[in-house]
Parts: sequence; structure tokens; C-alpha cells
Amino acid sequence: MTNELCNACQVGYHAPFERFQQVAVHEHGPTFLKRCERCGTLWHETLRDARIVSVEEAKHLYSDASLP
Ligand SMILES: [Zn+2]
Repeated sequence: MTNELCNACQVGYHAPFERFQQVAVHEHGPTFLKRCERCGTLWHETLRDARIVSVEEAKHLYSDASLP
């Protein structure tokens, strides 16, 4: 990742969750693709945890998502 993480994303996937915009969903899972509105970081959220993914990986995971 070359993105500069905002302060909140540096700490991890946590509140305030208002900063996240939902980009895509996988019904079976379910898993969610979220984008931080502050720094643009993409987060792949599962029922167990969440991790940062690159745009390439996000496109691979969510082929129907509208990504730059
Ligand atoms: Zn962020």
C-alpha cells in the first residue's frame, strides 16, 4: 500500500465507523468492501475481522464494484 493512512486507519478498523463508505457487498459470507472517506483506504470486512486491501485485490474480490 502506498496510501497515506489517516490517523483512524493507522490504528485499525474501528469507530468512528461513519468514516466508512460501503462500496460493495458479497451476499455469501457476507463480506463488505468499505472505503475510508478520510484517506481512501479500502477495507475488506468479514464477520471475524477486517483488513486493508489494495485496489487490485478489491477488484479481484469484488468484480462488480465500481472502483477507480
Ligand atoms: Zn482512513
